Amino acid sequence: MNAPLTLQRDRALLDGRWLAADDGRTLDVEDPASGELLGQVPLMGAAETARAIAAAERAWGPWRRRPAKERAALLRRWHELVLAHTEALAELMTREQGKPLAEARGEVAYAAAFIEWFAEEGKRLYGETIPSPLADRRLLVLREPIGVCAAITPWNFPLAMITRKVAPALAAGNPIIVKPAEATPFSALALAALAEQAGLPAGLLQVLTGDPKAIGGELTRNPTVRKLSFTGSTAVGRLLYAQSAPTIKKLSLELGGNAPFIVFEDADLDAAVEGAMLSKFRNAGQTCVCANRIYVHERVYAAFADKLAAAVSRLVVGNGLEAGVQQGPLINAAALAKVEAHIADAVGLGARVLVGGARHALGGNFFQPTVLADVTPAMAVAREETFGPLAPLFRFGSDAEVIAQANATEYGLASYFYSRDIGRIWRVAEALEYGMVGINTGLISNEVAPFGGVKQSGLGREGARQGIEDYVVTKYLAMAGL
Ligand code: ADP
Repeated sequence: MNAPLTLQRDRALLDGRWLAADDGRTLDVEDPASGELLGQVPLMGAAETARAIAAAERAWGPWRRRPAKERAALLRRWHELVLAHTEALAELMTREQGKPLAEARGEVAYAAAFIEWFAEEGKRLYGETIPSPLADRRLLVLREPIGVCAAITPWNFPLAMITRKVAPALAAGNPIIVKPAEATPFSALALAALAEQAGLPAGLLQVLTGDPKAIGGELTRNPTVRKLSFTGSTAVGRLLYAQSAPTIKKLSLELGGNAPFIVFEDADLDAAVEGAMLSKFRNAGQTCVCANRIYVHERVYAAFADKLAAAVSRLVVGNGLEAGVQQGPLINAAALAKVEAHIADAVGLGARVLVGGARHALGGNFFQPTVLADVTPAMAVAREETFGPLAPLFRFGSDAEVIAQANATEYGLASYFYSRDIGRIWRVAEALEYGMVGINTGLISNEVAPFGGVKQSGLGREGARQGIEDYVVTKYLAMAGL
């Protein structure tokens, strides 16, 4: 096992104490680049979760009574500590997740930005007064914290998927329990250690590592938990939605996507290639907003394919800790198998490999950045999210045809298109059935804009002014006899 990194914690945080699992069991965490054991974290289950929920409920009262300005000050201290530990957090993230160090540093800044943003938004949970229909009455609306919150988060953004849930929960006056992904618990624990250092009282942010079914089972079953925010696969999202039905919890779900990326014939092709590189190959294609289907107009198809293939062939693959690396390993063997299956299916049905197409010579979890041409709607990549470094190029002839194809999916998270015609820009932006549309850009995420999907990509929005709404409830006061 490697020597522990700065900020690496091998205990979970429950009610202000760093604890092992009740039965002492642990979970191994591996470096996806080398397969080496990075460390172990507690394998907790339902019993620890029930105790964390009780602790959160105890912590709630004093926290909700604190003025929003004081809560904001604490969050700002946490924000500053996160930024001050950028290098340690980025290295820990690259070690457990695999992304290149430059991307990991970028994620630390992105994650911290949510804390800063919601520290501010927490001070602006304004109420309302309503003109009364009766003379002796005054009608008021308050926005109050919802209660004990829970977050179940994925491995692809080990810090940011946590702060975009935890920061609005805390800022609005709620405690929150986080169950991070099994592959990336160290980033979550490091974040909690910094929150503790910032002076956040016990029980407000708890991090439980361990068995997803047991922890998720208790978080959904327990009536004290009033809100669950989940980012992950649509299959698990559906399950958690069903499990939350008996106790009518408020849910935020940020699920799978199948993002179309459309290049119209009037696009700036170099800009479109640059956007496609960012959207498709960031984090080795492992983001829920990665371009999954690239549609190129038949008049510019060959030129775009040549330019994209050239850019992709220049990507430097390797261990994310090494300088200059642009694509790290995939998270695990199953992720590689999915990319391979999509390529085999497409090639079997007539697609051509322009670049890559196979596992990388580095072995392990490394895969070659790949571009496929002549991809059709009959192929699996048209329907399923690859979640890997595979760019499939579809050909289209008309706006109506490409819009119909782009919308022919049960998903509706991110979409992208490139055009310079202002009329077309409005028509297409309005016709795309997606929660987010990138127009002449491949990069849309930031803390100030509402991130989320429609259709089976989920419920709720994260970031922005909207991102705190899911953590508050509306209370109406009717004052009579005045
Ligand atoms: P991925 O395929 O990207 O790993 P998942 O949806 O499986 O996506 O994982 C996202 C998060 O959901 C992780 O924290 C994982 O541990 C958790 N998870 C997986 N299965 C369950 C479950 N049955 N109940 C609760 N959480 C789960």
